[in-house]
Amino acid sequence: MIKIPFSKVSCSRNELKYITEVLDCGWLTTASKALKFEELFAQKVNAKYACAVNSCTSALHLGLEALGVGQGDKVFVPAMTFTATAEVVRYLGAHPVLLDVEYGTTLITPSILEKAIKDNPNVKCLIIVHYGGQAAEMTNNSKTGILNICQKHGIKIMEDAAHAFPASLNGRMIGNFGDITCFSFYANKTITTGEGGMLTTDNEDIYKRIKIMRLHGINRDVWDRFTSDKPSWEYDVIAPGYKYNMPDLNAAIGLAQLEQAEDFKNERLRVAKYYFKHLADCQWIDLPICKTDINEHAWHLYPIVLNHKSNVLRNIFIEKMSEAGIGTSVHYKPLYRMTYYKETYDLNPDDFPVCEKIWNGNVSLPIFPELTNEQLEYIRDTIINIQNNSKI
Ligand SMILES: *Cc1c(COP(=O)(O)O)cnc(C)c1O
Repeated sequence: MIKIPFSKVSCSRNELKYITEVLDCGWLTTASKALKFEELFAQKVNAKYACAVNSCTSALHLGLEALGVGQGDKVFVPAMTFTATAEVVRYLGAHPVLLDVEYGTTLITPSILEKAIKDNPNVKCLIIVHYGGQAAEMTNNSKTGILNICQKHGIKIMEDAAHAFPASLNGRMIGNFGDITCFSFYANKTITTGEGGMLTTDNEDIYKRIKIMRLHGINRDVWDRFTSDKPSWEYDVIAPGYKYNMPDLNAAIGLAQLEQAEDFKNERLRVAKYYFKHLADCQWIDLPICKTDINEHAWHLYPIVLNHKSNVLRNIFIEKMSEAGIGTSVHYKPLYRMTYYKETYDLNPDDFPVCEKIWNGNVSLPIFPELTNEQLEYIRDTIINIQNNSKI
């Protein structure tokens, strides 16, 4: 019986070695490994500061807080994202304003943003999601990119780059465009620490605020309190902060994963190229549109859309793929279809025509570094057989 999971972590290099170092040192939470991970990550994405946390959701929460988002503020969020992107807005008593996306890329474009600002001139912040691992149009040659628009209107930008490591736009790494960028190292992301996240910024004030709020609102690192040679029991609390620090056990895995990030990315690119080439003739499938250079895409996801020519509906397709031993997923069921957002904001699917068109047929195909070419052939053949055997 063939079994191809939707995603699978590669974890066979220095992970165990670094974890053992943490165990041997006798201090299992945030210390030198997390610090090293922050340093190397900041270098990699070319950001001044990086702050390791226990999830991307924590990073998004800390980020919005540091940007001053609060009670009653409006924040733009794409409707096609994971609930974490929007829930953090609610943590702070602010309101997510859901935006429709572009067909093919599932991204927010400068023109979508311009129109949304006309309808919501008092919006405080935009959370941009680099969907699937492709950078949104942050900048462009005509200076009409998302950064330019936000600057013009005084709108803060936080990037949800949970899919986008390592990714770049015209040679510039995702991680230093907006005011703040948040990455995820959740178990199925492009690199993982089990649970974990990273926040990057070039702004020193934001960095200082986040470091304090990450650990109870304490004005200095607690680990220092236990490992420092000097008697240093005293600390001050300046705000009711959170408990969002990344333990060294996780950072140890992160360091080993970071060493492999480019190799992983190249393998994912191989998979994406295979699908582009071998599904190109399937008239019933809309393939993802890559507007950036294909090499700059992180290829966290390979999302296809079964269009109106398909003989099978999405749910049946997923069932049949599963019967053939192939794992798939859906990214995403749009947020306005989720009970909480639908009821709280009285949302109507008719207001999101593009998301609806995507939602009707979206399926994410397996994509991970160890996927073999034989497995890819089997996936391609299965997709074609499902269509041919479902003639109507
Ligand atoms: C995975 C994900 C998150 C949340 O990441 P965690 O590290 O699990 O908190 C946020 N946004 C998007 C788009 C994601 O895919």
